[in-house]
Amino acid sequence: MTSPAPYKLFNVTLLRKAPLSPSLWRFTFGGAEVAAMKTCAADQRIKIFLPDAEGRPPALPDAPDWYATYKAQDPALRPPMRTYTIRQLRAEAAELDIDFVLHGETGPASTWATHAKPGARLQITAPNAAHKGDPGGYEWKPPTGLKRLLLIADETALPAIAGILEQLAASPEPPQTQAFIEVPHGGDQISLASWPGLTVEWMARDANAPGALMVLAAERAVLPLSAPARGVPVLADVDVDNVILWDQAAPRDSGFYGWVGGEAAAVLAIRRQLIQERGIDRKALNLMGYWREGRVLD
Ligand SMILES: Cc1cc2nc3c(=O)[nH]c(=O)nc-3n(C[C@H](O)[C@H](O)[C@H](O)COP(=O)(O)OP(=O)(O)OC[C@H]3O[C@@H](n4cnc5c(N)ncnc54)[C@H](O)[C@@H]3O)c2cc1C
Repeated sequence: MTSPAPYKLFNVTLLRKAPLSPSLWRFTFGGAEVAAMKTCAADQRIKIFLPDAEGRPPALPDAPDWYATYKAQDPALRPPMRTYTIRQLRAEAAELDIDFVLHGETGPASTWATHAKPGARLQITAPNAAHKGDPGGYEWKPPTGLKRLLLIADETALPAIAGILEQLAASPEPPQTQAFIEVPHGGDQISLASWPGLTVEWMARDANAPGALMVLAAERAVLPLSAPARGVPVLADVDVDNVILWDQAAPRDSGFYGWVGGEAAAVLAIRRQLIQERGIDRKALNLMGYWREGRVLD
């Protein structure tokens, strides 16, 4: 008998949607199959499959080779695929929350989210509860006994940040944490878990370029005193217009850990700032391009 696959294709139905802020909406999905899903971290990523250009709901087969079937389909006709975060999974109630940024009718996911009504059907690939091992698909792996944490994100990574803060607030000794969150407008702040050692700075983008305020935040972030001398490592550049920027942390100690997600060119500039200018160990940092302005990189 073959062992269950780490990831599986789930058929889900939109139960309800409600605004968390003007730009970020919570979508709750249901369906019997959701009971067989699992999530392993606050930044657990999943792929959603959207209706095709004709508006037909995705109908990929739930078979081990579903991805090959998908890739073999005509790109113009197959269901668009995009990456999202499990905000909360209530497997016992067969409910799944995903928080969608509504960024206008510029891409299939945001367009779908803007118009979707309860009853709409999607397919999602997510970790399979029947698989007993670690399915991967997440980067939030802070070292035990972490002392200082830096979080920098925009609204697309806010669902992950909200989950990370919730988890830390419930832990016995949460680290000293600085969170910088760039959102489209001042009214886009949402309520987050807190504890005495946490500072959250909301930054309203308004007319600034996406990520510009995140980059400024990296310049003023409080960093560990033990950071080595400036300008040590020379980083190879990443062509963020064609490649997904994805630096994964592998922390060497519990002193400092960083998690940065948002517009890719901004994350690239933060990478340079924190590692090259401010001497932070690159192994202490997750640096993730969640989207790239003007490009589609899924
Ligand atoms: C690991 C991971 C987890 C993610 N989790 C979430 C999540 O939980 N919620 C969420 O909303 N997003 C999340 N994202 C981001 C999401 O995948 C992208 O924003 C995606 O491009 C949206 O697809 P689309 O079809 O709407 O637009 P696309 O077809 O991909 O892009 C069309 C145009 O819209 C622009 N665009 C894309 N996203 C934005 C944006 N946010 N603001 C302004 N312009 C944009 C693109 O640059 C492009 O010009 C995540 C990304 C990653 C990598």
